[in-house]
Amino acid sequence: MRTVAIVGGSLAGLRTAETLRKDGFDGVIHFIGEETHPPYDRLPLSKELLSGKLPQENISLVSDENFAALELQLHLGVRAVGFDAASKLVSLETGEEVAADGVCLATGARPRQLGDDNPQGVYVLRTLEDCLALKAEFAVQPRRVVVVGAGFIGAEVAATARGYGLEVTMVELLEVPLSRVLGEKMGQVMADIHLEQGVDLRVGVGVEGLNSKADGRVGSVKLTDGVEIPADVVVVGIGVIPNTEWLEGSGLTLENGIVCDETLLAAPGVVAAGDVARWPNRRFGEMMRVEHWDNAIEQGIAAARRLMAGPGQERPFEPVPWFWSDQYDRKLQLAGIPSPQGEVEVVTGSLEERRFAALYEKDGKVSGVLGMNRPRHVMKYRQLIVDGVGWDDALEFASTQG
Ligand SMILES: Cc1cc2nc3c(=O)[nH]c(=O)nc-3n(C[C@H](O)[C@H](O)[C@H](O)COP(=O)(O)OP(=O)(O)OC[C@H]3O[C@@H](n4cnc5c(N)ncnc54)[C@H](O)[C@@H]3O)c2cc1C
Repeated sequence: MRTVAIVGGSLAGLRTAETLRKDGFDGVIHFIGEETHPPYDRLPLSKELLSGKLPQENISLVSDENFAALELQLHLGVRAVGFDAASKLVSLETGEEVAADGVCLATGARPRQLGDDNPQGVYVLRTLEDCLALKAEFAVQPRRVVVVGAGFIGAEVAATARGYGLEVTMVELLEVPLSRVLGEKMGQVMADIHLEQGVDLRVGVGVEGLNSKADGRVGSVKLTDGVEIPADVVVVGIGVIPNTEWLEGSGLTLENGIVCDETLLAAPGVVAAGDVARWPNRRFGEMMRVEHWDNAIEQGIAAARRLMAGPGQERPFEPVPWFWSDQYDRKLQLAGIPSPQGEVEVVTGSLEERRFAALYEKDGKVSGVLGMNRPRHVMKYRQLIVDGVGWDDALEFASTQG
């Protein structure tokens, strides 16, 4: 293999490039990314950058020096518009074509929008530009903010907006926010935290439409229960769509992401990594597409190694996924795949003090760990999932951990 093309110039793509170099690949690496910036971190876009606690220059994922040392053929600010998996030819919007022996697809995901033609003042949050525009809005007082969707991004934005002292309404279709992921009991804990912080939380209701003012800006949000909520700014956090449209007709299987085998191979010499990749995780016996930071890193590393692997060196990618979310002064961490229908047991701390760790059960084993301001316990209990520990043994172990 002499030439690799990485499409998607963000977290997963960067880790792929770094791993190739670290493992000794000295051929050409084309690094193709639609955004003009060198890779930056999205995590602070809903947290410290949006709140103003972190300066913009601190969100780079790599220093200029280390980025240059990777000796990449950079195609930044350039969209890939087509791909042929058989010939491994990537077509760019400039009309250029990049031929490679190995390709890593890491084009991530983009936010779902509420509609096609939204008034001014309506935002999604994925890019640095989205964040800076929203930050400028939050700096103007007073502002009434409506957050649509109480998932992790919506909840973080709501918390940051409250930090600015803004009036915040959060609208959620489910009766209990995050209940599909965390179950009702833990979802209610998250809901209570927002209520205590003064968020006007509307649950079990959707958005009927957005009303504009005479100046073209959003004026209110009409809910499906007929209620109209005044709004100066609307932030839409209703999930993401994997960026696969440009791969139509490529010969790859596209189904809620790029479908890969258990080693992240999508076709011979073609791997995928990050938010866009869907693969069978053998540890959990299910197809997964994971939209978290740690997964993008680990998959970037694994995808690079898969490209370089000789016969018999292929390894399945079977992690116990984990991620965190910061809201107010609480750090939520979730490891594994919690089963909202199974048992859930608080094993450390208590829900009342908002500082706890809880285990989730599935098929007689521990399948997930949720922690709030308990990072040490979450990592310890995550190992129980890695080790496939039975439910009763897990509870017994936890009882010795304080
Ligand atoms: C606001 C925010 C906060 C977050 N907070 C957390 C958190 O607290 N914890 C956590 O675990 N995760 C968090 N995440 C998720 C985490 O950032 C993502 O999982 C991670 O960014 C995925 O990396 P990726 O490289 O797979 O995809 P992306 O970061 O989406 O990068 C894909 C890149 O590919 C480019 N691209 C797309 N299509 C093309 C094309 N056709 N040609 C060229 N380039 C293309 C895109 O422009 C983009 O730069 C957060 C995400 C956001 C948006």
